[in-house]
Amino acid sequence: TPPSLRPRRVVLKLSGEVFGGGAVGVDPDVVQGVARQIATVIRRGIQVAIVVGGGNFFRGAELQRRGMDRNRADYMGMLGTVMNGLALQDFLEKEGIDTRVQTAITMAQVAEPYIPLRAIRHLEKGRAVIFGAGAGMPYFSTDTVTAQRALEIHADIVLMSKNGVDGVYSADPRVDPSAQKLETATFQEILQRGLRVADQAAFSLCEENKLPMLIFGAEGDDTIVRAVSGERIGTLITA
Ligand code: UDP
Repeated sequence: TPPSLRPRRVVLKLSGEVFGGGAVGVDPDVVQGVARQIATVIRRGIQVAIVVGGGNFFRGAELQRRGMDRNRADYMGMLGTVMNGLALQDFLEKEGIDTRVQTAITMAQVAEPYIPLRAIRHLEKGRAVIFGAGAGMPYFSTDTVTAQRALEIHADIVLMSKNGVDGVYSADPRVDPSAQKLETATFQEILQRGLRVADQAAFSLCEENKLPMLIFGAEGDDTIVRAVSGERIGTLITA
């Protein structure tokens, strides 16, 4: 049985682009749609933790190119992820799903600190858990954190939703029109071909620890439900 079928516990990565609906800030309509989908799969008994990106607010590397100190810019990026996490928490609670936000930078009035064993308990109780503030460290990305969190809470699979692309292609489809979408791939193939659909460090972590990853397109009303339910959309990557 392919590992994506009927997972028990998943970690879903939502990039900042998902939250902004393509713009800066948070688009409540878009977040509501995402929350509805997550609520649907939690009600079906699948445990869902979410890692939120922050690119709709700040990306440290971009601010660095425009003259900012990288470390400070990266902390701004991490704080942006927390705002996305709070927006998602709000809409999940409105769907009737108890939700906890845990952040890698402590901010007790806003969220719990990241405590992996407590996160697992929340999930076992049917709560959604949102991981914010990335790793709490500059020079990391939320893709890499997604793989790390998935390993630490013993998830069955990493689900990476992407904007503007519905899986991994044999080459960059925007550059090479003959590029073909891959149904399956190994982490080795992805790393060797230098396909940059997610961070190399995330692929390496998953490969070393034999954690499967599904990369799928965020566009559509039910793509998250389909991905979490083990439907074969996107590209399934295994060790
Ligand atoms: N970031 C960081 N450390 C982390 C995670 C994120 O420094 O562990 C910063 C980094 O500046 C990054 C920004 O937060 O550009 C937003 O995260 P990311 O780019 O991963 O978000 P996404 O592209 O998924 O929206």
